[in-house]
Amino acid sequence: MYHKMMYDDDNILSISGIQHFVFCRRQWALIHIEQQWAENLLTVSGEIMHEKAHDDTFTETRNGIITSRGMQVSSYELGIYGVCDIVEFVPSDDGAILFGKEGKYSVVPVEYKHGEPKESHADILQVAAQAMCLEDMFCTKINELNIFYGKTRHRQKIEFTDEIRDELKDIILEMHMLYSRRYTPKVKQNKNCSACSLKNLCLPRLTKVRSVKKYLSDMAEE
Ligand code: SF4
Repeated sequence: MYHKMMYDDDNILSISGIQHFVFCRRQWALIHIEQQWAENLLTVSGEIMHEKAHDDTFTETRNGIITSRGMQVSSYELGIYGVCDIVEFVPSDDGAILFGKEGKYSVVPVEYKHGEPKESHADILQVAAQAMCLEDMFCTKINELNIFYGKTRHRQKIEFTDEIRDELKDIILEMHMLYSRRYTPKVKQNKNCSACSLKNLCLPRLTKVRSVKKYLSDMAEE
């Protein structure tokens, strides 16, 4: 269940962590609590795709649609912050009012992914988190989420349902609960481990005898 509460700069969490969290709670904690990171091919190519999307931060207007790249977003009610690849403002009678602009606009976040649609909800939850920040910032309701997949060159449109909102709120609350305790959960080896950026740091068998932090400090001393 989600309890309404406010967060501050000391405990606000990165939206990019939602993907890690959905993939593996332990991976998220290693990166976002213990600050460990090991790049693999997937993460590197993903970052290049993101750099392109965040390149040349600008706002342009074409056919009445205002497109903003690299917009920073946050919600202190949910305790999350991040950067949107693209936010489109589409003229709409029941949309948001934009400072210095005529009329009203519906707000549509568009997330870029280098791969193709996944079985998990990770991508949807990430853009949903951006959308909830945008709703706070523009005092509006967002009905549609978009994800552009680089591999298939396809833009997927997703209805922003109450079910997605509830799933996201539960996940964010769980992230905050772990973060407030600075707790890195132990996880059994699973099918995600072979594709995990941190598998060399987090071999689950190591966690039985020592933490990753201890393992790294032992390695440094050897
Ligand atoms: S190696 Fe496996 S258990 Fe460890 S962080 Fe990665 S996915 Fe999670």
